[in-house]
Amino acid sequence: MARQFFVGGNFKMNGSVEAIKKIIGYLNDAKLDPNTEVVIAPPALYLLLAREHLKPGLEVAAQNVFDKPNGAFTGEISVDQLKDSNITWTLLGHSERRVILQEDDQFVASKTKAALDGGIGVIFCCGESLEQRESGKTIDVVTMQLKAVKDKVSDWSKIVIAYEPIWAIGTGKVASTEQAQEVHAAIRSWLKKEISEKVAEETRIIYGGSVSEKNCKDLSKQPDIDGFLVGGASLKPAFVDIINSHL
Ligand code: PGA
Repeated sequence: MARQFFVGGNFKMNGSVEAIKKIIGYLNDAKLDPNTEVVIAPPALYLLLAREHLKPGLEVAAQNVFDKPNGAFTGEISVDQLKDSNITWTLLGHSERRVILQEDDQFVASKTKAALDGGIGVIFCCGESLEQRESGKTIDVVTMQLKAVKDKVSDWSKIVIAYEPIWAIGTGKVASTEQAQEVHAAIRSWLKKEISEKVAEETRIIYGGSVSEKNCKDLSKQPDIDGFLVGGASLKPAFVDIINSHL
């Protein structure tokens, strides 16, 4: 079964009512590859606005979700609240949350389980720091992050894995096609060994880290790169070219 190409836009803590409406306007008006799944992740405050304005067929993701049901958790958003608002995906484990907000592998895995149990798809981010890469630990770090999920989750059908080397995020330093393909292939063989051949075949593994309209074509041709998670460029009209990179 061919894996459907998947492109996510991670707006991070950027945008305003006006700016987000404008980006959505570009997407609604553009001719997008009908075979690519497109999901945008605006800040929580704009999730409903995005859902209201984005045309059907394009999906909206939260950037985070909490692992407890509704209750006394000030500042958090629940899986039920996402569902209630027709938000069908969430990012989890983005390195900015792992590093700045000190989310550990267990917490990210627990939130992944909560989202999946509630029927929300998860764009699960993993990736190594420059120091970890330089000391040869890339595959160990990424598979440790995935193992925490394996320990809690059995159904992988609603997980998209985003491999995002931290040193490539927002730096303009994209991983080379060979570097990205190598890690994606290693993730796929880990899935085959640790989960199943079917999950390895069917799970989308997307690349994130300084993806642009210039480098996306080459990356998209790699056999184990099934799409992108795009930060900075998802706020610009060039996002459309990235969505269409697989045409
Ligand atoms: P970037 O961010 O494309 O701006 O490097 C990617 C991400 O953090 O998801």
